[in-house]
Amino acid sequence: MDLASKKTIKELLRKYNIKPSKRLGQNFLIDKIVLRKIIETANLSTKDTILEIGPGLGILTIELAKKAKQVIAVEKDKRMCEILKEVLKDYKNIKIINQDILSYKLQPTSYKLIANLPYYITSLVIRKFLENPPVGGPPKETILMVQKEVAQRIVAKPPRMNLLAMGVQFYAKAEIVSYVRKKSFYPQPKVDSAIIKMIPQPTPKINTKKFFQLVKTGFSSKRKMLKNNLELEKSILEKIKINPKTRAENLSIQDWLKLYDEIYKK
Ligand code: SAM
Repeated sequence: MDLASKKTIKELLRKYNIKPSKRLGQNFLIDKIVLRKIIETANLSTKDTILEIGPGLGILTIELAKKAKQVIAVEKDKRMCEILKEVLKDYKNIKIINQDILSYKLQPTSYKLIANLPYYITSLVIRKFLENPPVGGPPKETILMVQKEVAQRIVAKPPRMNLLAMGVQFYAKAEIVSYVRKKSFYPQPKVDSAIIKMIPQPTPKINTKKFFQLVKTGFSSKRKMLKNNLELEKSILEKIKINPKTRAENLSIQDWLKLYDEIYKK
């Protein structure tokens, strides 16, 4: 069965009497080059456990299962799970779980997170797995298909820093692997996408809750200068060589760490 063929997808959906749900972001991948790119980027071995979010009709799931030890595929849509049972019946190393990924509790394990994500949950997924990881820790590698603009926000540097970029780059090295055009999906979405790869990195030994409270306050009013958002004396910023008139989007993570140290030092 060729799951990259629109005809096959249409037939499958017709057989199960299903219309793709916009609400659940059901835009299925139909581009084999993009599929290969995701698999190559994941650098899979037979020791890998993969957590896949939103397997849909299983196009990515099958390729993951061919190379990894096990694939845990969490799909919210019960109707998709019915199709998946048929499509994936020959693969014994795939576990289909009919659940919302946001409420799914992963057993502690070492794993890679791979998904062509429904876009409405991108930030929630990042928060769940990177910022507040499950007991077993964050994924050792995360490869996500996300909206192009969101990918660009995630990897942004000063002068385009933003809260999402801070949240990701504090915990991980993030890079855009490739851009993907909207015609690579059926039904075609309104926007282009990008594949993004994130690898966790050691985090500074600080009170992260306090740190992110500071960062959030710094970003609270976009047009205001940082010192006004944070109600800071100009001298504090000058001391750590940050322009007192600057705005939050101009600060790197290192700058934020310096500022945090300066404000909270004992
Ligand atoms: N992986 C397939 C592909 O590449 O063709 C489908 C990707 S489609 C963009 C997103 C999938 O995520 C859909 O199958 C949708 O039903 C599922 N989904 C949406 N919200 C979800 C959630 N909260 N938890 C798990 N799966 C979800």
